[in-house]
Amino acid sequence: MTRSFDVAVIGAGPAGLQAAIHSARRRASTIVIGRPSSSAMHGIKLENLVGLPGASSGTEFLENGIEQAKAFGAEFAEMNILSAVSSEGGFGITAENGEKLIASAVVVATGVSRNRLGIPGEREFSEGRGVSYCASCDCNFYRGRTVAVVGGQSEAAVSADLMAKYAARTYWIAESFDADASLVTKAEAAGADRIPAKIAEIRGGESVTSILLEGGREIKVDGVFVELGGRSSVDILMDLGVMPEIDDTVKVDRSYATAVPGVFACGDITGKPWQVAKAIGEGAVAGMSAAEYAGRMRRRPSTI
Ligand SMILES: Cc1cc2nc3c(=O)[nH]c(=O)nc-3n(C[C@H](O)[C@H](O)[C@H](O)COP(=O)(O)OP(=O)(O)OC[C@H]3O[C@@H](n4cnc5c(N)ncnc54)[C@H](O)[C@@H]3O)c2cc1C
Repeated sequence: MTRSFDVAVIGAGPAGLQAAIHSARRRASTIVIGRPSSSAMHGIKLENLVGLPGASSGTEFLENGIEQAKAFGAEFAEMNILSAVSSEGGFGITAENGEKLIASAVVVATGVSRNRLGIPGEREFSEGRGVSYCASCDCNFYRGRTVAVVGGQSEAAVSADLMAKYAARTYWIAESFDADASLVTKAEAAGADRIPAKIAEIRGGESVTSILLEGGREIKVDGVFVELGGRSSVDILMDLGVMPEIDDTVKVDRSYATAVPGVFACGDITGKPWQVAKAIGEGAVAGMSAAEYAGRMRRRPSTI
């Protein structure tokens, strides 16, 4: 049996959950499809969200968000979707268990996955043990310590500049530095020590203690910031008829509507800063907009 909803939210991170809360509270029948365990927020400690002092658990935040969305009437399917296509009068969604859903409006909140170095030690020391993918999130944890920022593009330059202001010593490491020249100058002026090299391994015990460069040089560090950008699930957007931007982000208007009527997007997928506060703000607006859109579709006189 195909189930029908006013709003289908694809993604169970902070953006999707907030969208579901705002949609369900507008009395739109709402389903959230996605795995909270795959959210960028799962397993992190965050300390920069208003109202949550100290290092708060991202996993707990997601668990509470799911319970809140359910309490307001949203349904929850913990799985990925295989496809989402525009169909007459709405959107047809196929979940990975083969179930088919129909929704009048879709909110895409599928986030981005960080590009990884893919070297020994990276996975072992992620999740709070010294490898981070977000300098603006974790800078405060490395105040007065020694860190390496890895990556040669402008986003790495911005992170090297930021970390040089927090850490006692910041090494900025890349095989080649292609960042905007003014950003390179700024990072170096802040004290980042630029090293042209390839990182071969991240080493440590309980947490990171050093990095090994190709060629054999070992540098003592307390943390490694991997700043290699990220990739979003553009295939879902393209299935829905939305053309992503060249950097894989999706363009939205102030109601978080995309160029395709009935398709909304929010969170990391709309671009930087990749931050929870931005994700939930956008999710709230996208959820309300999607519910309103679905309401308009319901009230539309039938052409038959
Ligand atoms: C290590 C780390 C530390 C961070 N620290 C902080 C911090 O301190 N403060 C801060 O503000 N931010 C921090 N962030 C960033 C923050 O986690 C993200 O900005 C936020 O999670 C983005 O929310 P989102 O809902 O857009 O995407 P996500 O949270 O990534 O959620 C995406 C959702 O989409 C789902 N999905 C993807 N593809 C499909 C599909 N095909 N079908 C169904 N579902 C799909 C995923 O399963 C997931 O549920 C950190 C991120 C990382 C990686």
